[in-house]
Amino acid sequence: MRKVRAAVVTEFGKPLEMQNFEVPKLREGQVLVRITASGVCGSDVHIWKGLDPRVKTPLILGHEGIGVVEDLAGEKSDVFGNVLNVGDNIIWDRGVVCGVCHYCVIHKTPSLCVNRWTYGISKTCAEPPYLNGCYSEAMVLDEKTKIIKLDKQIDPVTLVSASCSGDTSAHSFDLHPLKTGETVLVQGPGPIGACFFRRPCYGAQVWHLWRQFRAERQRKSLLYDSHNLRSYVNCTCTHL
Ligand SMILES: [Zn+2]
Ligand SMILES: [Zn+2]
Repeated sequence: MRKVRAAVVTEFGKPLEMQNFEVPKLREGQVLVRITASGVCGSDVHIWKGLDPRVKTPLILGHEGIGVVEDLAGEKSDVFGNVLNVGDNIIWDRGVVCGVCHYCVIHKTPSLCVNRWTYGISKTCAEPPYLNGCYSEAMVLDEKTKIIKLDKQIDPVTLVSASCSGDTSAHSFDLHPLKTGETVLVQGPGPIGACFFRRPCYGAQVWHLWRQFRAERQRKSLLYDSHNLRSYVNCTCTHL
């Protein structure tokens, strides 16, 4: 039985502990992926400190990941219909949704799925299939995971933050499509805010705040009254 090492939060606020895990036998549709890059999201720090009451230990942290398919059970395709094979470079949706609830089917807003769970956050490493986070040499992707096959040339370290920060930023464009000449303010210089600048803004003027405003009243008056902004993007990781 193959073993892999993973960094585990055994106690909040304490150093991560390296532990060995046996790779479980895959269920139909599951994918074993060898992690080639794992991002450190700001939320990982909050979780590690014990500031997220939903999270339990022991936990393999990490919801930003890129890897190579090492094994898969049954035939598997990515979201574009490309057949997945051993050796493929892949990225995946950190959140797994049911696809059958009201939000998934009617509203087409899977981020609000009532059954949504997230790698590196929702499941401890005491629960099968155990390898549930990206701070590991390998992890098991659930059969409902949305996967995208990547070009071999893509550098995983460069792209890895796209699996959380990147798509959170992209989601803001879905919520507030920009038009030429509009002004938008991005609050926060972290990976999500940085990804915002990677998107084409179609001539919109983008302001970037490099400090958090502590008073909500001050924030609102600054954003809406002083600058007459149409859109406001709060670049904190609130999608978990
Ligand atoms: Zn995140
Ligand atoms: Zn759902």
